[in-house]
Amino acid sequence: MGRTVARAVADAAAVLRGAEEVVLLGHVSPDADSLGSALALGLALHRRGTSVRVSFGVQDGDESAPESLRALDTEGLLVPASAVPEAPEVVVACDTADQRRLGVLAGRIDAAGRSILVDHHASNPGFGTVRVLDPRAEATVMLVRRILAELGTPLDPLIGRCLYAGLATDTVGFRIGGPGPHRLAAELVESGVEVEPLMRGLVDSHPFAWLGALGGILARAELEPGVPAGRATVHATVPLDVVRRFRPEEVESVVDHVRTAVEAEVTAVLKQVGEARWTVSLRSRGAVDVAAIAVGLGGGGHPRAAGFTRDGRREEILAAILGAVAAGGRSGRI
Ligand code: MN
Repeated sequence: MGRTVARAVADAAAVLRGAEEVVLLGHVSPDADSLGSALALGLALHRRGTSVRVSFGVQDGDESAPESLRALDTEGLLVPASAVPEAPEVVVACDTADQRRLGVLAGRIDAAGRSILVDHHASNPGFGTVRVLDPRAEATVMLVRRILAELGTPLDPLIGRCLYAGLATDTVGFRIGGPGPHRLAAELVESGVEVEPLMRGLVDSHPFAWLGALGGILARAELEPGVPAGRATVHATVPLDVVRRFRPEEVESVVDHVRTAVEAEVTAVLKQVGEARWTVSLRSRGAVDVAAIAVGLGGGGHPRAAGFTRDGRREEILAAILGAVAAGGRSGRI
């Protein structure tokens, strides 16, 4: 496995070194690991003189990047999905567990001259001509760091910020994983990354009105006793008006509050993204593999953090989750 990943890293660097035009893509509703990976690699290639565009899959017509991540785009590399060429020379899909997670850009993988996958999701079936796919990597930015080393790109604060953003968020503030993320964090701080202002903008900044909305969501959270015992599930719902009133940064932060309920093995946050459409975040303390549950419901992810989007009534979605926890919760790895 280690040899396979090392070979893929070398292959990816060789393709990128020879390319004149590279499109780097994140998944729909991009997070810091996805867009941070694309922008870190994009900045490095841009400095080499490569023509670079960074974009991400679009769902429901919203082409704007999350406000907190736009600050990482110091060279103006981000373009809307509609500005991505039909058949780029090279496409790189970052942190994308499934080709469909590229949304309207999914077809670019097959249309491109070469396509590179850089990802760490265990549920990823693999796609693209070069596959840097390593479920042991704590974040996709860990794999991007290896590609940058292979390219001979030195770290600097601007590339470093993109990597740190993905690293700190995917490891839930360095709680998950081994020594690798801590080593990379040290390397990034040594390269000049200022952690506090970076993280303040990424995860510690919400409008005052959010506090009241969050209070209401948490007050209505419910704890379902586990069947069998030990599989209690805490769940909360973010209604459509709240999803529409606030940024993804606010809505995505709900799960980190709900998951602290010590009685619960599994956490589910149901976000109403349309009248009858739900995007669900799942978290596990480790005994239940929520990636398996998410895959069963049309999504994907990691054993302890996964998600899916599904149409239906809230009660149906919730029943499907609780049924899957009761039936399918096998012992999962980190
Ligand atoms: Mn990731």
